[in-house]
Amino acid sequence: MNLHEYQGKEILASYGVTIQRGKVATTSDEAVAAAKALTEETGTGWHVIKAQVHAGGRGKGGGVKLAKNLDQVKEISGEIIGMDLVTPQTSAEGKRVHQVLVAEDVYEPGEAEIEEFYMSVLLDRAQGKNMIMYSTEGGMDIETVAEETPHLIFTETIDPAHGLQGFQARRIAFNLGLSGKAFKEMTKFVNSLYNAYVGSDSALFEINPVLKASNNTIIAVDCKITLDENALFRHKDLAELRDTREENPTEVEAKAVGLNYVDLDGNVGCMVNGAGLAMATMDLIKQAGGDPANFLDVGGTADAKRVEEAFRIILKDDKVEAILVNIFGGIVRCDRVAQGIVDAYKNMGDAIKVPIIVRLQGTNAEIAKELIDSSGLDVQSAVEFQEAADKVQAVLNK
Ligand code: GDP
Ligand code: MN
Repeated sequence: MNLHEYQGKEILASYGVTIQRGKVATTSDEAVAAAKALTEETGTGWHVIKAQVHAGGRGKGGGVKLAKNLDQVKEISGEIIGMDLVTPQTSAEGKRVHQVLVAEDVYEPGEAEIEEFYMSVLLDRAQGKNMIMYSTEGGMDIETVAEETPHLIFTETIDPAHGLQGFQARRIAFNLGLSGKAFKEMTKFVNSLYNAYVGSDSALFEINPVLKASNNTIIAVDCKITLDENALFRHKDLAELRDTREENPTEVEAKAVGLNYVDLDGNVGCMVNGAGLAMATMDLIKQAGGDPANFLDVGGTADAKRVEEAFRIILKDDKVEAILVNIFGGIVRCDRVAQGIVDAYKNMGDAIKVPIIVRLQGTNAEIAKELIDSSGLDVQSAVEFQEAADKVQAVLNK
C-alpha cells in the first residue's frame, strides 16, 4: 500500500527524521492559511506547493512549484488542485490532484553549499536482508543514475537481526562525501530513517532528494513509502492512511469482498483458486495465444456467492472476451464449485456475454463435469489443463 508524501513525512517525523515541514490543503484558500501558519512556525516566507498523488516525477510534470508570496501560493495551488497531473510515472491521462502539500522552501536561493542525495531503504529478497541504497546523485531519477553512472550508487546491507550498525551509518555519510556537522547529522538521519522503516513494517522507503541544507542539517525533502500489506493488521493507524482514490477502482472493489485481484491488459479473464495455480494458468493462457486480463485468486471458498462476485469483478473489464475458471478441488469439492458456477451464472441472467471454460480437477471432478455439461449454459468443461487452454484458444479464434 502506497502513501502520500505528506503521510510518509509524518511517519518520518515521528521517528525523529528531519523533514521539510508542510501542511496539506484541499483548496487554494486552505493553502494560503497553511502558508501563513507555516511562516509563523518556520520564519520562511517562500513556499513550495506540491501535488499529492501516488506517482513520482511530479516536479517534471509541473506538480511542484515555488511560491514567493501568498498571492502566488493562492494562484499556484489553484492551478494544481483539480489538475490531471501527467508525470513519467503516470498514464497519459494523468492523475487527478485532490490535495497539495504547502511546504517550507528549504533550498534558500543562492546558496552554493546545498547538496541533493538519493536514499532508499528496501527489502533485498535475494539476501533476505534489508538494504539502504544511496547516491550522491539526488534529485534526478535513480533509473538514469543507474544507467549512466552506476558507480555512483552505493548499497549497505543490514541484517534485520542485528539492525543498522554505527559503522554502517558512518560509511554512508563518508561515501556521500560529508564531514563535520553534516557527517554527524547524516548518521542520525540514517538511523532514524532505518528505525522508521522497520517500525512501520514497510517494504520501501524512497527519499529523493535528501537535502544537505546550507546550515548542514540533513532534510527529507520528498518521501515515498510502500507499506507491507501483510503487516497492516498490526498498524491500524497506518491502514487508515489508505487513499482508495489513487488505486484501481476494480481492485479496490475486489479487495472489499476479499478477492485477491490484479488488473492486467489482456483479453482472457481468469478465476483460479491458489496464487500458484493462478500464475500457471496465466502462463498457459499466454501459450494458447491469449493474454490474461487479470490475476484472480478466489481462495478456498468457491461457493455461488463468491463465484458470482468474482464473475462480476472480471466482467467489469470490457476487454474480456472469454473466462477461464481453473479450480483444483483439494479442500473445496469440485461439485460444490460447479454448482456455485451454475447458480451464479443463472443468478446473473444476461450479465455474462462471453464464453466460459471451466476446468475442475480433484475431489468429485467427474460429478462436477456432469453438472456443468448438463446445465444447458454457455459453459464448456475441460478435464486437462491443456484441454482447457485449447478451448480458450478456440473461442478466441472464432
Ligand atoms: P517528485 O518530482 O515527485 O520526485 O517530487 P519532489 O518532492 O522530489 O520534488 C521535485 C523537485 O522539486 C525536487 O527534486 C527539488 O528540486 C524541488 N523542490 C522540492 N522542494 C523544494 C524547495 O523547498 N525549494 C526548492 N527551490 N525546490 C524544491
Ligand atoms: Mn522526489
